Amino acid sequence: MFELKQRELDKIKSSVHKKKYIKNYSFDELSAELQQIGEETYRASQIFDSLYFNRLETFSEMSTLPKDLRVRLSQIYTIGSLQIGKKRTSQDGSIKYLFDLDDGKNIEAVYMPWTDEEGLLDRSTLCISSMAGCPVGCAFCATGTLGFKRNLTPTEIIDQIFLVEKDLKVKINNIVVMGMGEPLLNYENVLKALNLMTDEKSKIISRRKITLSTSGIAPRIRQLADSPNPPKLAISLHATTNGQRNLIMPISKSFDLTKLMDSVEYYYRQTKIPITYEYILFDGLNDTDMDAERLRRIALRVPSRVNFIPYNDISFTNPQGIAKELKPTPMERIYEFAEILRKQGVAVIVRDTYGSDIEAACGQLALSEEN
Ligand code: SAH
Ligand code: SF4
Repeated sequence: MFELKQRELDKIKSSVHKKKYIKNYSFDELSAELQQIGEETYRASQIFDSLYFNRLETFSEMSTLPKDLRVRLSQIYTIGSLQIGKKRTSQDGSIKYLFDLDDGKNIEAVYMPWTDEEGLLDRSTLCISSMAGCPVGCAFCATGTLGFKRNLTPTEIIDQIFLVEKDLKVKINNIVVMGMGEPLLNYENVLKALNLMTDEKSKIISRRKITLSTSGIAPRIRQLADSPNPPKLAISLHATTNGQRNLIMPISKSFDLTKLMDSVEYYYRQTKIPITYEYILFDGLNDTDMDAERLRRIALRVPSRVNFIPYNDISFTNPQGIAKELKPTPMERIYEFAEILRKQGVAVIVRDTYGSDIEAACGQLALSEEN
């Protein structure tokens, strides 16, 4: 009895996997797909409305389409890609989601509400993932210790927004691609997801409200600069010399500070969008007065802002080598360091450790789940 049930379940599972995620297609691609199965292309508009405006989750609900088309679509495509696995709310109001993918892997997203002085919600940010795991392996990052699992599809990237909006009944008005993974090493899918989110017809969010964070894949930064609708760019800098950076970010051996900064300058020249630098302060490693002076020179190359991020300790991952040595700079030194740069004309922000009580830093919940 059990065996039969299991076999049936496996069959259903494999048939789901053979189906294609319909949200992986741009409007033009979907029109072409419909043409291929002998349908009128104006149906693409109706399907887009159903998916992105009405947020329908089954084809049978798409009442603007004839019944036989709904059946045909459901035989070829599937709509949703994620399930909420776990959800944890922090004392500061941020909420961390652990999502299950169809193949059992996990990714994370963090919701961060921002309130005005009267406590009213005036901005809500969602930090989304671009990969399950990450191949870059930065010494300070919990996602890095997971290694690379796989790239996310455009659907899986977009569904993080859809599920959180549905679950919290809120409208996300700011997206940061700063969760698990290196978005510029999943360039095609991430760009497609960004294009779908900002498409005239889907109107999920405006391009000016999206920030993509990268560890510094220089050639891809240039490529993104030349794309039709580039997002805001954040660079995970975290060091002011190649020697320091090589120690904590192995990607720096492929794209050193000269290559990285040339690509950043190119990004600014092409897009005219100011750059954000992220800088985690590590005690005694990158927080000296000389670092402040080198950082000033880097930051003033193009209009920019530097975010100082307190290091979220990942000693629970049992780090080895240099990772074991990394310690957070005390808060008072972080403020002092920021002040040195502020006085020299650099725009700086000291960022809170949002959701530190719920392991909200990149990859931490997924890792504790895996262990
Ligand atoms: N791969 C991209 C985006 C994801 S990481 C990148 O590296 O930019 C998002 C941000 O979280 C990066 O700035 C990263 O350096 C930071 N981060 C990772 N681990 C952290 C930790 N333990 N404490 C504080 N920030 C961390
Ligand atoms: Fe990957 Fe970014 Fe973590 Fe580095 S900091 S391992 S690039 S997710």
